[in-house]
Amino acid sequence: MAMKILDNCIDCGACEPECPNQAIEPGDGIYVIDPERCSECVGAFETPQCVEHCPVDECIVADPAFQETREQLERRYAQLHPA
Ligand code: SF4
Repeated sequence: MAMKILDNCIDCGACEPECPNQAIEPGDGIYVIDPERCSECVGAFETPQCVEHCPVDECIVADPAFQETREQLERRYAQLHPA
């Protein structure tokens, strides 16, 4: 699953520089994650770094609209970071 930022986002931007895939951008009052670039940090970190650095509880959650296997997430990370 890609992660999703909910509308309790305070627009602080703490998550943006922590994403290894440059998947996070400022949106209209809240930050937004591009599901085509989010690998849930698979390939780079053990846990989603946006969640780790977000100061708001329950702000960044797994998006059930984007169900993906670990293999799919690994493939995405590899495609985004060619050797
Ligand atoms: Fe970026 Fe990782 Fe958050 Fe996905 S889970 S948006 S890859 S920091």
